[in-house]
Amino acid sequence: MDIKQKLKEDIVCISRMLHRKNYLAATDGNVSVRLGDLVFVTPSGVNKGLMEAYQVLTVDLEGKLLSGEGKPTSEIRMHLLAYKLRPDVGAVVHAHLPYATACTLAGIDLLEPVLPEVVITLGGIPTAPYATPGSDEVPEAVRDYLRDYDAILLSRHGAMTVGRDVTDAYNKMEKLEHTARVILAARLQGPLPPLPPVEVEKLQRLREEYKRRG
Ligand SMILES: [Zn+2]
Repeated sequence: MDIKQKLKEDIVCISRMLHRKNYLAATDGNVSVRLGDLVFVTPSGVNKGLMEAYQVLTVDLEGKLLSGEGKPTSEIRMHLLAYKLRPDVGAVVHAHLPYATACTLAGIDLLEPVLPEVVITLGGIPTAPYATPGSDEVPEAVRDYLRDYDAILLSRHGAMTVGRDVTDAYNKMEKLEHTARVILAARLQGPLPPLPPVEVEKLQRLREEYKRRG
């Protein structure tokens, strides 16, 4: 199988995982992968649980459609910005995570260092301010966070993750939703104590090691 076909099949596989895990509903969410000057991306209006590889579109780094039938996702600008700002990024995933989105509605900040695993692997999960979905406001809202974070919550909307490949970006999405579930469950019992600063420092050192290992 040629590399382009393989990447399209990877997008289909991850889209189906997102749907199966209830990380999005129906046609929500979008997935893209970069290969040099090309970006393979999910089309607008297709159920992610039913999508097939021939429906994955190819665009250039400006979002111009190069091949495929249909319209690229309305959130394409958020994906293109990630590729522009971060040459290390090879894939972007956007989903409407139920628990993580609930955290943004409830005003719960996942940037607070509460769980050690999150500090090491993601460095924290910031929440970008509210932006109209599908508009130019979305890339502007995430721009400042994208430089330092691989997993970003979008207020009242969902989440965006980036990774070296589509599995890496998906894994961060799964971690994000898992974190939100733990935090929401704990919040039912009362306020959450953050980790003490001395423990956060130790975890940040481990994070540097984690990043070096890739
Ligand atoms: Zn969305």
